[in-house]
Amino acid sequence: MSEQPLAGKTALVTGGSRGIGASIVERLAADGASVTFSYVADHQGAKEVVERITSTGGTVRAVETDSADADAVRDTIAEVVAISGGLDILVNNAGVAHVAPIEEFPLEEFDRLVAVNVRGVFNTIQAAVPHLPHGGRIVTIGSINADRVPVPGIAVYSLTKAAVAGLTRGLARELGPRGITVNTVQPGPTATEMNPDEGEFAEAMKALMPVGHYAHPTDIASAVAYLVRPEARFVTGTSWDVDGGFAV
Ligand code: NAP
Repeated sequence: MSEQPLAGKTALVTGGSRGIGASIVERLAADGASVTFSYVADHQGAKEVVERITSTGGTVRAVETDSADADAVRDTIAEVVAISGGLDILVNNAGVAHVAPIEEFPLEEFDRLVAVNVRGVFNTIQAAVPHLPHGGRIVTIGSINADRVPVPGIAVYSLTKAAVAGLTRGLARELGPRGITVNTVQPGPTATEMNPDEGEFAEAMKALMPVGHYAHPTDIASAVAYLVRPEARFVTGTSWDVDGGFAV
């Protein structure tokens, strides 16, 4: 295998300004891909990611595109294709959470979680698929909470992550004949702004994992890096738990 397994490939990663998404962007760029990532508000984070990657010779672009805005996503993908000549890899990482018991869960938050975590994933895949070649790759960052919910208050978040696991299976069936693989990576607790490893729930979460500690975002990026390589062509429709044993 060449040292840069993604040389010549173009990738789009949603939500790349920090956390797991930033780590995926950095890894795919290090593996040789030309990477565009989206974000909404975190301009400083996006700038830092671009600077880190360009300073080491990688190719990266940041775009301000809300995953929940289907028209904006379509325009962004058309722009990536126009600039780079194609799109080989889509990583749906952008996601939001809200924690509250059901009686207090605002419907606006329900709608926001579904708009970004489910509809946003759907409309991004829908806009990308016409451009993906044979050998194309779709990876969605789900969550181990799709399968295991050990604390109250995250029912709606879990719903959204179970939804994308189902979408992945259905689309793997649909796109397999076109040589496109579709997979979900299901992280366990990962140290980011969304889920700090010193946060309110951190000790309880650590106790649930055989490894006894949170993931670093690079742990999740490593799994994505494998799935998007040519050698992963036989892996599709799966939900891959990268969770320190959270689900056992
Ligand atoms: P994070 O630190 O909050 O980062 C989220 C990223 O997504 C940011 O770059 C954010 O940028 C971007 N984003 C949010 N809404 C967006 C939208 N509507 N359109 C485009 N970009 C958007 O979260 P994270 O922990 O890295 O989580 C990344 C993914 O992993 C999410 O799907 C999350 O559900 C999943 N996950 C996380 C954990 C964990 O323990 N951390 C575990 C399992 C799964 P802006 O603020 O600029 O919009």
